[in-house]
Formats: sequence, C-alpha cells, structure tokens
Amino acid sequence: MSNAMRANETTSTPVNVAKDWAPTSWKNKTAVQQPVYADAAALDRAVAELRELPPLVTSWEVLALKHKLADAAEGRCFLLQGGDCAESFSDCNSPLISNRLKVLLQMSLVLVHGLKLPVVRVGRFAGQYAKPRSADTETRDGVTLPCYRGDIVNAPEFSAGAREPDPQRLIEAHSKSALTMNFVRALIDGGFADLHHPEYWDLAWVEHSPLQGEYRRMVESIGDSVRFMETLAGVPLSTFGKVDFYTSHEALLLNYEQAVTRQVPRNWGWFNLSTHFPWIGMRTAQLDGAHVEYCRGIRNPMGLKVGPGVKPDQLLRTIDALDPENEPGRLTLITRMGAAKIEAELPQHLNAVKAEGKRVLWCSDPMHGNGETLANGVKTRRFENIRAELDFAFDIHAACGTRLGGVHLELTGENVTECLGGARDLTEADLARAYKSTVDPRLNYEQSLEIAMLIVRKRGG
Ligand code: PEP
Ligand code: MN
Repeated sequence: MSNAMRANETTSTPVNVAKDWAPTSWKNKTAVQQPVYADAAALDRAVAELRELPPLVTSWEVLALKHKLADAAEGRCFLLQGGDCAESFSDCNSPLISNRLKVLLQMSLVLVHGLKLPVVRVGRFAGQYAKPRSADTETRDGVTLPCYRGDIVNAPEFSAGAREPDPQRLIEAHSKSALTMNFVRALIDGGFADLHHPEYWDLAWVEHSPLQGEYRRMVESIGDSVRFMETLAGVPLSTFGKVDFYTSHEALLLNYEQAVTRQVPRNWGWFNLSTHFPWIGMRTAQLDGAHVEYCRGIRNPMGLKVGPGVKPDQLLRTIDALDPENEPGRLTLITRMGAAKIEAELPQHLNAVKAEGKRVLWCSDPMHGNGETLANGVKTRRFENIRAELDFAFDIHAACGTRLGGVHLELTGENVTECLGGARDLTEADLARAYKSTVDPRLNYEQSLEIAMLIVRKRGG
C-alpha cells in the first residue's frame, strides 16, 4: 500500500456524479440479506459513531487500485484476490493474519514468475465480516433462531443471545478491520514482503510439501533476477523489490457501508473508505435493489459476482447502472458458475459484454459454484472441480476472444482440511481432522499454491 499511498491520483478520468444518489438513497430500495435490529435507536447511535471514526484507506489508494485493475483488463497485469470466506473477530491475531499474507505472497510470486506480469494483490480481509445466507432462520431440535450473518451482525453459537443482531458489532468490526489493516501495512512497510527475502513468507508446517521443490526453484530464479537487475542499475531497486496490497470485502451490510462513505478534500465524489474494493455478492445483485443503488454512487473500483441463471441482458443493464461511463478499472465481473455449468453459462456473457464494448475486467471465482454438502452434512468443495472451472474459464475466454485477467479464491494459511483433493489428495475422512471454517470451505496452503501453478501452466509460463 505504501507505493499506492504516495501516488498522485487526483487527475484520473473525470466521471459524472451519480444522479439522485446519496449514501442513504439505498434505503428507498429493497435491501435483501439485512438483519433486523430490535433496537432501532441503538443502531442509529452505532451508525452515528461509525460516521465519525477515521477511515481505513485513502481515496488515493482507491484510485491507484482502479488504475491497476484497468491494466489487468488490458492484460498488463493479473489480479489475485483471496482470503477467508468470512473473517471472525477471534481470528484477528498475528499468526492468522501473517499466515494468510504469506500464502498470498507466495502465490503471487509463482504468478509473477510464471506469467512474467505484475500481480495486483487484493485480500479478502480487513472488513470481510458480513455473510449472505440462504435462509433467515435456522432450526435445531425444534428451536428456531435467526441465522448467523457474520461477526459484524451476530455470533455463530446457537443461542438466542448469540444470534441477536447487535449494533455495537458494527463498531467492533471497524476496529478489528483497522487492527488487521494496521498490521498488514506494518508488515509490508517493514520489509516482510520484500522480494529479497522470500524466506520470510515460509510457513513452518509445509517443509515437506510435495510442491516445495518447484516453489524453491522459482524463488531462487526470482532472487537471481532481482540481484541481476540491481547489478545493472548499480543501486538497490527499492520499488522493484516491494509489493503492494489492497483490501476488499462484500458490500453487504448497508448500514455499515453507508457510515464509511465519505467525501475527501482533494478528490471529488464519494468513496467507501473502509476498503479499496467492495464487491456485490450474487444474492444481492438485483438491478433495482439496494446494493446496486448504494454501489453506483461510490467511486471505488468494484466487483460484481455473476452466477448461473443470470441473463446477458440483465448483466448488461447492471453494468450500465454501475458503470455508466464505461470507465476503465471501475468494474470487475467475477464469474462463479460451477464446473458443471460454466460451458453453458459463460460464453453468452463474454459475447454480449464484448459486443457492447464494455471495458470490464473478467475474473474467475472457481469456489462458489462448486460447493457441495456430504451425506454427513459437512460442506466441502472438490479440488478437481475448482481446477476444472478455472481451466474451462481460460479456454472459454480464449475461444471468445476475451481475457481472463484475475482469480478470486477462498483460502487460508492454516493447515486446514476443508476442500477435498489437491496435492495430498484429502479424502472425506481427512475433513474431520482440521475443519475450522464456520462458513464456506477454504483451500489450504498447498491447494492454493497448486492453483497458482495451474494458472501459470494454463496461461503459458
Ligand atoms: C462469497 O464470496 O463469500 C459469496 C457469498 O459469494 P457469492 O455471492 O458469489 O455466492
Ligand atoms: Mn464464501
């Protein structure tokens, strides 16, 4: 983030301010997936308090990311977006945050080396606390309670007290996001992400991983290149040796997003300053809904999930609403069709968007269309399906003459066993060993690195 922070971005493409829009105009539309707070006055107090708290990111960083995403759409870099399905307050600690950063850094190293392109790193962290759910309530043993909507709303334990939406959690989510962001910034500024020292990113438990040999060879080759460039230049290449990191979360809980929407002195318009890159989830992407209404008015670059069943015309009209000026870098379409449906669903969208000349960045989320529930009730994803969707995505883009410029993954630096398959061929019996997610199953370190290697093989390393 340090380089981005220094960039002077006040002269970006002028865009008209969204008409008839205010940070609160979403309230005039139907807002799905929102909790019901029993105490409306307490919610108002929390929102008012949040509005006065300092932001987590700056408008310069937000606009710098927009430029990079515009570059990714043109094939000049590649987007790597990843992190937990949902962060939890109790996971806001040093080892979990640094391990997640390590995995993302290692994956990006593999991508930089193999694709010979810069990588834009965007974490699903420092604010990924709200979850869309398939049902508003959950029933166990004849007892029905509100569903768990993420730590920004309520707690996962199955008790009436834990499941009661609590407005104070908005403040706590903001504080935990700030702590996470502060630690990530400090690590990066302090040299943790320095390409001269990739050994800082090693995870203790993976020494004997089957992928270590291939990864080590890449690290050595990158080290040689950095040293070669420095010998040529005669000085240490500080900007060359450093990496940037950006943050993202699903813009789901609109009372929160509204309270962190700000105007700043040196850039016109409104920015969501709790994150660089908000995205609209599949369940909240209704064209006339509150989430599209909120997002159309902010200047951040943003993601839009596109799942099976969406009609190309519906997608085009949503693009018009969110990006009426066809601004480079503004919109990233994150497709999540599932391995079984992608061949039938994706080409129509690629062709329609291309035919209308929309300048979007295409990104593949091979996770969310490939969820399944085993006979014992455990939610999992098969590595082979994740890999297959990604493989198909590259091939379909190539056939349609469009470009897949990024990937969106749910992953962790912990040694979890949540997704089946991968380098160690995890089986259903393995899942019981280290299944920690309270929401969607994540790729572990080895499975994540394998995906990065697959992308390189696919895109031509
Ligand atoms: C998610 O990204 O965690 C998610 C819920 O995705 P989707 O909206 O694509 O289902
Ligand atoms: Mn998820």
